Amino acid sequence: MGRKFFVGGNWKCTGTTEEVKKIVSNLNDAQVPSFDVVEVVVSPPYVFLPLVKNSLRPDFHVAAQNCWVKKGGAFTGEVSAEMLVNLGIPWVILGHSERRSLLNESNEFVGDKDLPWRSLLHKPKQLQRGYQTGLMLSWPMSPVWAIGTGKVASPAQAQEVHSELRKWLHANTSPEVAATTRIIYGGSVNGANCKELGAKPDVDGFLVGGASLKPEFIDIIKAAE
Ligand code: PGA
Repeated sequence: MGRKFFVGGNWKCTGTTEEVKKIVSNLNDAQVPSFDVVEVVVSPPYVFLPLVKNSLRPDFHVAAQNCWVKKGGAFTGEVSAEMLVNLGIPWVILGHSERRSLLNESNEFVGDKDLPWRSLLHKPKQLQRGYQTGLMLSWPMSPVWAIGTGKVASPAQAQEVHSELRKWLHANTSPEVAATTRIIYGGSVNGANCKELGAKPDVDGFLVGGASLKPEFIDIIKAAE
């Protein structure tokens, strides 16, 4: 089974309602390769999720930037996986390095956040998606030095690490999981460097931060062609 190229836009903690509407409108007007070629998922801050979900073109998907580790209940300030699924959002970024460093999220804590998704997303395809998203972004060897710094890993460096990660999946899960899991690169991806990075066989897409708020995000999506 081939791995469809994945382009995620991580909007982080930025934007006003007006700015978000403008970004969505630019995305809606863009001519991009079809969903058969590239899967696009944008991740706005929580407060904008319903707005983006309801106004974004249907061939693009929406992700949350975090979720709570358990079912809902007396957990002030948290949002559960059930709430996201109820909103029609089966995607989430888990274990981003900014949450690990700023909020001390540990590997164990992030690993447990995967659990509610396994019981909620019954359809195997959706389960696989949720699982892949969590797994990709929990990658402990992500080049933290490349996130938000303008310093990008070289295509050869990215390929080397992604290939090691796939070998690890092969040895520790199954050949099928290793072959089908998309391993995406994040860290200062932009319109100029995306083509070469994306051409590497084990780079199955990107998590784009700063550039996902700019018109060049469209160029990055187009690079999947
Ligand atoms: P950046 O962010 O593209 O701004 O470096 C990447 C990320 O959020 O992983």
